[in-house]
Order: sequence, then structure tokens, then C-alpha cells
Amino acid sequence: MAARVDEVARRVDQLSRGLREAGLRLTHQRLEIVRVIAADETHPDVETVYRAVRERVPTISLDTVYRTLATLAERGLILRVLFTPGPARYDANPARHHHFVCTHCGLIRDVENADLDAIRPTAEVARIGRCDAISVQFRGVCAPCQSREATTA
Ligand SMILES: [Zn+2]
Ligand SMILES: [Zn+2]
Repeated sequence: MAARVDEVARRVDQLSRGLREAGLRLTHQRLEIVRVIAADETHPDVETVYRAVRERVPTISLDTVYRTLATLAERGLILRVLFTPGPARYDANPARHHHFVCTHCGLIRDVENADLDAIRPTAEVARIGRCDAISVQFRGVCAPCQSREATTA
């Protein structure tokens, strides 16, 4: 699923600026990485971003993709998510949102909901420490996995 064109353009601007502020030159390769991560709403891992960028920049190295995404994540411009077993996945959606995670295939889908946004830290949370963000995670089985299960059962 692709993000809206104007929203993607806004994210590309923001991420490009972030790389320059991190002291990195905005090379053609890095710009292509930024374009891929800004438009991909599947929360891709490094390998997936690498494969997509390689279609347009055949000389790109996995290491360049890895380091570019790590730099963006260090600066808080993209989110490194560890909801699923295996490699870290990256989320370029800067808006407040929540997630549905399929425990079978590893699908991660954004969930937006004002009621969820209204959740406040409980008294217990406040005793434990300062809460900077709240994100709800719905874990379960996505519809395609459910129908696969139904046909193989
Ligand atoms: Zn699934
Ligand atoms: Zn997300």
C-alpha cells in the first residue's frame, strides 16, 4: 500500500534534510533510499528496501542502505520497529499511529484511531517513569493468512 503522493513528497523532503543535517551528502543513492522508505507503508526491513532501490540503482550496496536507514532512525526521522521475529523493520510514518501485526506472516499495518490516540499513561506507568509515546499494537492473524488457514485445514 502506497502513501499519498503529497505526503510522500513531504516525507522525502524531511528525510533528505535529516541526512544533510547528519552531515551526509544527499547522493543519488541516498535519495533513492529515502524515496523508497518514504513511500513504503509495509514497514520494510533493510533487505526489502535494498531490493527496491537496486531496481533503479543497480550499483547500490546493502551496507549503504543499512547505514542510511540506521542514520535516519538514530535521528528519530524513521522508526525502527521490532514487532516481529527477524530483522528490524522501518516505519517512515511520522504521524501518531498504532499497528496491526500478523503473527503468521509478519505483516505490519498502520492503524489510525482517535480513541487510541486519547489513551493516557496510567498511574502505574507514571510511577515507573516518564512516558514519551503510546502506541497500541494489535497482534493477530491477517485476513489473507486466515483464508490460507481455512483452505489448508
Ligand atoms: Zn498474515
Ligand atoms: Zn507504522
